Amino acid sequence: MTSFEASSKPASQEDFGFEVTATLSNGLGRTGLISTPHGKIETPAFIVVGTKATVKSVLPETVRDLGAQAVLANAFHLYLQPGPDLVDEAGGLGKFMNWQGPTFTDSGGFQVLSLGAGFKKVLAMDVTGMQNDEVIAEGKERKAHVDEDGVNFKSPLDGSMHRFTPEVSMCVQHKLGADIMFAFDELTTLLNTREYQVESIARTQRWAQRCLAEHKRLTLERKGKPYQALFGVVQGAQYEDLRRKASRDLAATESDGWTFDGFGLGGALEKHNLAKIVTWMAQELPDNKPRHLLGISEPDDLFAACEVGADTFDCVNPSRVARNAAIYTADGRYNITNSRFRRDFSPLEEGCDCYTCANYSRAYVRHLFKAKEMLANTLATIHNERFTVRLVDQIRSSIRNGDFYEFKGEMLGRFYQKKS
Ligand SMILES: [Zn+2]
Repeated sequence: MTSFEASSKPASQEDFGFEVTATLSNGLGRTGLISTPHGKIETPAFIVVGTKATVKSVLPETVRDLGAQAVLANAFHLYLQPGPDLVDEAGGLGKFMNWQGPTFTDSGGFQVLSLGAGFKKVLAMDVTGMQNDEVIAEGKERKAHVDEDGVNFKSPLDGSMHRFTPEVSMCVQHKLGADIMFAFDELTTLLNTREYQVESIARTQRWAQRCLAEHKRLTLERKGKPYQALFGVVQGAQYEDLRRKASRDLAATESDGWTFDGFGLGGALEKHNLAKIVTWMAQELPDNKPRHLLGISEPDDLFAACEVGADTFDCVNPSRVARNAAIYTADGRYNITNSRFRRDFSPLEEGCDCYTCANYSRAYVRHLFKAKEMLANTLATIHNERFTVRLVDQIRSSIRNGDFYEFKGEMLGRFYQKKS
């Protein structure tokens, strides 16, 4: 076969795979192996976020060296800037950003719909009180409107009007070229009424069907490109019947023999309900497909989710808080700008195997933050990302070795102990 013939062949769903390699005694938590055209991911795994095709302030070589197996970028941000055509022309996300391993893109649904609710104001995970579908954050303009076919939104960059539909999201994500993509879903908040949640998950299911059909069409049309897996996204907020139904419906979604390659566990999840809600979904979803839980990185959440069968996670938090001088350690989080570190020449965390801790002191990193030097962000981010990636790696080992519960008790006991 000539190389021309090889490259003119369309990719197939068989180019993506997942196998479960060990299971916890509860039958839900597991370790596994995801295979993509750009490499394998041992799960559970923490996926480092590079929103705009860069992990802020850190070189891709360093991201690899700190142990990240894959990077997740944001379809919405890359759609606005520099645009999917340019990333496609560059050879896809991985090539464009010089990351050789597997890549993920989210659908853009979260960011688009967040504009409608006043981003980061009412999308809190622990909202209680009155439910109202029209609630928006005080002083915010509603910048996104949902209809049956898609969402109209105003660009936060320049105020221009745009429209995302399931087909647009698929087209954008195919051009971005990540190994794992997510179906376009409607994000609801815990403030939405149950009535609206019912309506919304029915719409998300119709959109999922359209995403799958468009995904198949684009895969067959874009011959010679590596296969990009598509994950359906489960919504349903805090309602057991809605979560279970949405999971079953997505698992059964099919378009001319094609099905979802995996699933995203989406939506606002209250911390105290996280394990319960992930359990409902894990019990309904097929065991032989991976599950990605969107947006968690706190140690207690990671243990809770791994225990009940979530396989991969992503979150901006380790790098975001690093840029605010917050440092994760096995003994909890602290702020490196505190004056008690002025003459502290020990590493950010004793015993940490990251590049920052091997080479720099608390006194130096504190100095960089106080002097507003850019290297402060880089060094703190490397440590926090390494902390999070390593923690999930250790969870994976503990599931394999049969000491998950001991490790969980010991690690969480130490991390959350009250300091006197
Ligand atoms: Zn470190």
